[in-house]
This record gives sequence, structure tokens and C-alpha cells, in this order.
Amino acid sequence: MSSLRCTHCGEESLETGFILDTGQSASGFAEWVEGPLQRGVLGGAKIFRRPKWEIDAYRCRHCHHLELFANHPA
Ligand SMILES: [Zn+2]
Repeated sequence: MSSLRCTHCGEESLETGFILDTGQSASGFAEWVEGPLQRGVLGGAKIFRRPKWEIDAYRCRHCHHLELFANHPA
């Protein structure tokens, strides 16, 4: 994905990365979940049988904007 361009400032200097999730029983990376947020009785998000995608987060070295892509099913 070397041709990526920052949608904020237009620079092509995007660094590859991801969004860390260190919450309890977390897998270590954040995921994008299809559909609107629904909360269970304990307040947590209900994600049972919802499609989830890994998030690629590209950081612009120039303006520090983040570009997020969800290309890979989790
Ligand atoms: Zn930028």
C-alpha cells in the first residue's frame, strides 16, 4: 500500500500500524464490527456472531492524521 495518501494533508508519508487493545481478555488489537453498537446487560458491546475485521491504521508523519482500513476478516 505504498501509494497511500493522507486524506487530511495530502502527503504520501504514511506509517503502517494498528490500534492496540489492552482491555481484559482482549486479543491485543482493535477490530471493526459490522452493524451499530448494541450493549448487553453489563454495558459491554454485544458482538456475538457479528462480522469482525482487523483494522490497519496508517499514521501520517507530516500531520499525524490516522487513516484506518479494515481489509482482513478477523
Ligand atoms: Zn497528513
